[in-house]
Amino acid sequence: MIIPAYVARNARKYPSHEAVIDGSLRVNWQQLNQHIEYFAAHLTQKHDIQQGDRVCLVLPNSYTFIVAHFAVQRIGAIVAPINVKLTASELKYIFNDAEASLVITCAMTSSQALQACAELQLANLSIDDMPEYIDRHCTDGSLIELDEQAIATPATLLYTSGTTGRPKGVLFDHKALLFVGMMFATEMQYRPESRLLSLMPFTHSAPLNLTLVGGTIMGSTHVVAPTFTPDLLLNLVEQERTTHFFGAPVAYLLTAQHPQIGAADLSSMTHWIYGGGPLAGDHARRVQKAFASDQFYCVYGLTEAGPTGSLLLPHEHRDKAGSVGKRAAAFTEIRVVNEHGELAAVDEPGEIHISGEGVMREYWRNTSATHEIFTSDGWLRTGDIGVRDADGFYWVKDRIKDLIISGGVNVYPREVEDALASHPAVLEVAVIGVPHEQWGESVKACIVLREPVDESVLRAHVEERLADYKRPREYQFFDELPHNANGKILKHLLRL
Ligand code: AMP
Ligand code: MG
Repeated sequence: MIIPAYVARNARKYPSHEAVIDGSLRVNWQQLNQHIEYFAAHLTQKHDIQQGDRVCLVLPNSYTFIVAHFAVQRIGAIVAPINVKLTASELKYIFNDAEASLVITCAMTSSQALQACAELQLANLSIDDMPEYIDRHCTDGSLIELDEQAIATPATLLYTSGTTGRPKGVLFDHKALLFVGMMFATEMQYRPESRLLSLMPFTHSAPLNLTLVGGTIMGSTHVVAPTFTPDLLLNLVEQERTTHFFGAPVAYLLTAQHPQIGAADLSSMTHWIYGGGPLAGDHARRVQKAFASDQFYCVYGLTEAGPTGSLLLPHEHRDKAGSVGKRAAAFTEIRVVNEHGELAAVDEPGEIHISGEGVMREYWRNTSATHEIFTSDGWLRTGDIGVRDADGFYWVKDRIKDLIISGGVNVYPREVEDALASHPAVLEVAVIGVPHEQWGESVKACIVLREPVDESVLRAHVEERLADYKRPREYQFFDELPHNANGKILKHLLRL
């Protein structure tokens, strides 16, 4: 079935079961389904949205986002959720690239989006209170037919964060979304009684496809809020007795520092899920201790893969925290391929490849980029360097693009970051290559401290752990590191 057909099914199976909780708004599956149908009818009748059209959402996580997302897919149109923090010129680039027919905004996010729409003479629909909006606008009620079988139809266009170069649109059909959602629902044991907390933006593939789509096909309850803060995380877990949360590593590091973490009642949580970027083994252990839980799951993947990839399970954290697990996720395979194009030996670095039904169909209208990212046997190149250790666990060493070449020798920033992260005074660290006349590049550490410490202490700490050529020549201390909306460290900004 197509994804919104599961909402309709939930409305039949569990009509009065809570579907979405957004602040004081509580909506059941029957109401959600009705709102999606009305809104889909409104989009076709009043805005002439047709199958295959692109509709951009510039909305924070909210009930409105959820209705609009499924309503667009319900028509057979393509939903493109866009990061609300982008500037007018960044938005213009994306609206243009997607050749959007309509942009949906709300008061909280609209000034940059409105400017971009005005400059492009693009239709904009501003919505604030979805249930009231529906009641006001959708009285004629001639609903559009639900084509449940149109599973090969393009469903979602996700723009990659573009930490290098211009953002590219990643196109998924309903079938890929269904596999990604089923993968996560299976792996994370989603049930109709599960309560999934979504604070990381739905504009990223993990919150969107793993949580919103995965939870919806299972009939789980979504608890949403417009933004992540440690306070909100602790409060909503306690108030709404949520069971699952996905967050970027930085979300966990910040929450582990929160003075209230010891007092909060987190006992309802069965799955603490992190991923989207590396979390050093020592930091993972620190987080587990602060959260007083061993129910931690690491997910590795990338937007282009759904994200599907691999999983590190709770019991594996004791010995292998810092790795991304030994098992590819359900319906997925991964492999490491060396520079000769052969399967890498144990501990031999190579590029990680992913294969499975959750992988994107193509880059939007970009045949050459699509051609480049797939191998001749149809696997997706991740652009990540990894190794498989003797126990079969995969370790993501680094993005190929982040590799530092100093004096002709490869330095993996991640290895240096892990060495620094093992010092208790270090809260967060990013290691980058900076231009150097003699060596080409030299190693620089960018650090946020938890507590004051002298640079010489960190240098001594690193000296015990790393060979000379890997040691940072330069240290710079920050109050915080630049992150994108998904919590990923923006290394290119540190290199400026
Ligand atoms: P994105 O496409 O924005 O989701 O970024 C995907 C990239 O994030 C991957 O190619 C990895 O470099 C990195 N990444 C994602 N998950 C993890 C993880 N669990 N550990 C280390 N790196 C990760
Ligand atoms: Mg990417």
